[in-house]
Amino acid sequence: MRRSKQSYRCSFCGKDKSEALILIAGVEGHICEVCVEQAVDIIEEELYGNKKQPQQESPPPPVAAQNDFQLPDSMTPMAIKKHLDLYVIGQDEAKKTLSVAVYNHYKRLRQAVADDVEIEKSNVLFVGETGTGKTLMAKTIAKFLNVPFAIVDATVFTEAGYVGEDVESILSRLLQVCDFNVTAAERGIVYIDEIDKIARKSDNPSITRDVSGEGVQQGMLKMLEGTEVSVPPQGGRKHPEQKLVKLNTQNILFICGGAFDGIEKHIARRMNTHVIGFKSDEANASNVDRDNLIKYVNHQDLKRFGLIPELVGRLPVAAYLEPLDYETLRRILTEPRNALLKQYTKLFALEGIKLSFTQEAIDYIAKQALEFKLGARGLRSICEALMKDAMFELPSQLDIKEFKVTEAYAAEKFERSKFGMLKAA
Ligand code: ADP
Repeated sequence: MRRSKQSYRCSFCGKDKSEALILIAGVEGHICEVCVEQAVDIIEEELYGNKKQPQQESPPPPVAAQNDFQLPDSMTPMAIKKHLDLYVIGQDEAKKTLSVAVYNHYKRLRQAVADDVEIEKSNVLFVGETGTGKTLMAKTIAKFLNVPFAIVDATVFTEAGYVGEDVESILSRLLQVCDFNVTAAERGIVYIDEIDKIARKSDNPSITRDVSGEGVQQGMLKMLEGTEVSVPPQGGRKHPEQKLVKLNTQNILFICGGAFDGIEKHIARRMNTHVIGFKSDEANASNVDRDNLIKYVNHQDLKRFGLIPELVGRLPVAAYLEPLDYETLRRILTEPRNALLKQYTKLFALEGIKLSFTQEAIDYIAKQALEFKLGARGLRSICEALMKDAMFELPSQLDIKEFKVTEAYAAEKFERSKFGMLKAA
């Protein structure tokens, strides 16, 4: 049988083979991976009553619902950054940018009378490798201000009318964390992760429909700018009977983040052209940090990457996050307020054991995280591997009151763990 090109499409959502990760063939048609997932959700919900939330990180603790959040008079951008410093190591430029953006955002809310000068919204865009602290920064600032905060993943949204979440359900999560207190939600912060994954595939506006990319970006525009949105309180489309809640996004701060893998080539191209075009800039060219081009990212590069100009325009504050080097990883282990090693120490203290780590052991852990390219997220898995035996054995050895993790101990446990096996392979 001759198959026409038409047949290589998902029979449920119509997605073309080139747009789907997997297209599973059936007798008469095909189904893509997104529709399979959606179908599994529906089955789970119908048969077992499990309602799966859209891909989000673990839900933040409920926020003390505030009816009318105001930035305290004593608050300054410097005070905000100082607070960020307690939790986020390095990333000075990004912390400064975020502090100013947040300060201006909430100051804007205080604008008493509307006059000719209307301060525009300062939504923020973070560009930086995964695991460099983008979510951490957004989370920390929301907690500090005690405003409702939600994390959503841009990849679960599709253009209206297609299988997937509607962009409006970004706000469902925000409503849920503040117990559906609309006034509190309207002063909240939303972190939209993986914004780079909804970039359109080429620099040219597509003629064909781009279900997962450009359409979603278009769908977000009004919401980011500020409008009244009808939000399904339970999210998703599976509850057609649910009553929609009206939410105004005018004062919601949106922070978008993404790794933007490969954006360096657009930056490099732009900078080279610049250098050739303007001779006087050649001197500066020698100062360019070629290993870390991400720090020069600008709106032009983001458009080249595939964000539509209108979206880039609604994210006027762009900040980059540096890749984490050895020194930063080392500091992350010990310095933040809830640093990993402090957490282990507290855990052991609850057993009546004084836990300590030698400097060399700390260096060793950071070195392994760097070597295995695990970043800050890997620090935890490494520590778990090192501490597993001690956490298992010590609670039953009542005579042990002190435990020191040395480099030799760390190395021995590490080599025997799955990481050590990877190394040997
Ligand atoms: P992403 O950039 O992918 O959003 P996250 O903010 O989720 O990364 O960070 C992943 C983990 O690494 C978190 O547990 C966070 O605590 C830790 N981490 C990452 N960067 C830093 C940093 N600069 N300072 C302190 N902890 C960090």
